[in-house]
Amino acid sequence: MSDVSGKQNRYSRQVLFPAIGEAGQEKISRSRIVVVGCGALGSVSSEMLVRAGVGYLRVIDRDFVELNNLQRQSLFTESDADQTIPKAIAAQKALRRINSGVSVEGLVQDLTADSIADVCDGFDLLVDGTDNFETRYLINDFAVQRGIPWVYGAALGSYGVCLGIEPRKSPCIRCLFPDLPPRGSVETCDTAGILSSVIHVVSATQVSQVLRFLVEGRFSSRMLHVDVWKDEWRSIAAGQPDATCPCCAKEQFEFLAGEQGTFVTQLCGRDAVQVRPSPSVSLDLHEIGERLRRSFEVRSNPYLIRVQIDELEMVLFADGRAVIKGLSDLSAARAVYAKYVGN
Ligand SMILES: [Zn+2]
Repeated sequence: MSDVSGKQNRYSRQVLFPAIGEAGQEKISRSRIVVVGCGALGSVSSEMLVRAGVGYLRVIDRDFVELNNLQRQSLFTESDADQTIPKAIAAQKALRRINSGVSVEGLVQDLTADSIADVCDGFDLLVDGTDNFETRYLINDFAVQRGIPWVYGAALGSYGVCLGIEPRKSPCIRCLFPDLPPRGSVETCDTAGILSSVIHVVSATQVSQVLRFLVEGRFSSRMLHVDVWKDEWRSIAAGQPDATCPCCAKEQFEFLAGEQGTFVTQLCGRDAVQVRPSPSVSLDLHEIGERLRRSFEVRSNPYLIRVQIDELEMVLFADGRAVIKGLSDLSAARAVYAKYVGN
């Protein structure tokens, strides 16, 4: 499989593309990439990157597969949803089946100010597969501080955007949006819905940017705005970094310093809240499961336990995080966590 002729055959159509060629393919095959978030954008981007033959792909995701993901999250199956498999694990399995020549690693973890260096240091490029601005601002802080290129992508309804960000050469995310949008002001997949087709457009643009950067050492200097329903496509010159940007000009890395951000977050796409202890802990899921099983219905797999507490459902991970479904109130979620998991 990994012999030279097999590799040549495998990537031959990509190598024939003049801008890539043999030399470009060699660069791609040596690359180390992190895809942050493996929902819809992360699924589609990871699959394309693995098929393109990147060297090492790390996929990090905090969530698990549910039935309503399958409409757009192309790496997952009904069986993954039935078994509540964490997305990072399901993705790792699917991606390894697609290309055994790529080292693929799935991490079931929340990307936080505490964990981002461990997860992303030493990689060539970061790909945004997240569904929230808080994590994007954290990636941006880290990427700008370390000088790591990253590719921003987002989609909602039928609309999507994509921009390759090379720190200090292109505008960073805070040059474009200096502050986090006010909580509750942003539509989510839960309120606006999401088309699978726009995901594929945004991911395709992200992956094109990644390959281009790996091969040519630069992104296109344009930002894509697309609405696939209205069939409106615009690509706008991204311009220069903003000289007043708090991040890339003033080097105030507030998200990386943990000065901004919360430990309780409403999750995009669902009536659900995540509670995350900081610093993270290592829970004995078996012991907690046995304790809760006395009063509640508990299901488990090696990565998580799922507890039905009246009309709420709590999914608890070994790193101490819980996703509580059936509520949107952040303090109520904190209270449920304290009551059934402890402080
Ligand atoms: Zn900036």
